[in-house]
Amino acid sequence: MLDARSLLVYCTTNQALRCAPIADRPHGGLVVAPHQGDERGLLETAAYLRGRARFGAPLLLDAARYAGPDRLPASAPFNPRWLRRQRELGLPVLTDSGYVDAGDERGLAGILRRTMAIPGAVAVLPLHPAWLRDRLHLSVLTGHLRAAAVPVALVLEARADPFALDGCVPGLLAVLGCGVPVLLLRCDLSSLGALCHGAVAAAVGTVAALRHLAPREADGVRPPSTIFRPTMSYRRISAIQRAKRTRPDPRLWSCDCPVCAGRDLDWMAGLGDREREVPAFEHAAAVLFALRDELLGDGRPLPRAARDWAARCAEAAFREWELGWTVTPMLRHWRDTGPNPVDLRLAS
Ligand SMILES: [Zn+2]
Repeated sequence: MLDARSLLVYCTTNQALRCAPIADRPHGGLVVAPHQGDERGLLETAAYLRGRARFGAPLLLDAARYAGPDRLPASAPFNPRWLRRQRELGLPVLTDSGYVDAGDERGLAGILRRTMAIPGAVAVLPLHPAWLRDRLHLSVLTGHLRAAAVPVALVLEARADPFALDGCVPGLLAVLGCGVPVLLLRCDLSSLGALCHGAVAAAVGTVAALRHLAPREADGVRPPSTIFRPTMSYRRISAIQRAKRTRPDPRLWSCDCPVCAGRDLDWMAGLGDREREVPAFEHAAAVLFALRDELLGDGRPLPRAARDWAARCAEAAFREWELGWTVTPMLRHWRDTGPNPVDLRLAS
């Protein structure tokens, strides 16, 4: 059902109809989570997308019971009705897992064991970042993944981008090396890094709150940001507008994606926060899909894609530095997965 190396859009039910045309493309797809916990509404929307809306790309549902103030722990049992409804709709079956806290090996093992008993199911693993960052946690995690041998969909908890944290990128690469199909849900540009290193699929959130798993005590809504392609990072529109004043180079700021249509990216500054949310995501999705196709299109071999990705992260980090911006930590971490830049210089 999923093409290998699919880039998916991750949204909530209330955004699904707007996101469907963006996600319905080759190597695309949609992951939908309930809006305000309404699972019934989610299932109805999924039935509509698969039926009358003729949504043809892969469609996955995430119950997201691991999120929010009333999130469930990893020990919570799966809801058989949730699993059955996904199957009835002809969708891949994702478990409605609870949150796997640091050190909760029993919870982790329980999710994987219960998933093994459901034919074809994908174990959703909403993880405290220690599972990727801490060596002992990581070896326990990879041991269980190899033993269970079921496909997994990772969701990582962090206040902002989990791949900004030291150790998360190498930890993800170790999980990708376990020999089980891996999906990454609720992420941002690191989706591309994951795909270049062998993830089956990675899903990019429409808004900041859907680009990671916020800790329970997380703060509220943030103003929309979007991807500035030259630096491959999410930036507030106001920051892009300010930077443009200092370097008025038209080639740097204009964008040819369908929503910007050749305008400078800061055209969105004229919109209010709520009005900006949709074009900010449409632009980001266009950039991400274009990058995905450049990195992975035409069956390019993964090692080459992974090298290109690291090189692009290095370039983007350099451009951030040139613009006087703080270098986005995610870019540094992915850059460091590539060949040593000093060696490159010696080789040329
Ligand atoms: Zn654009």
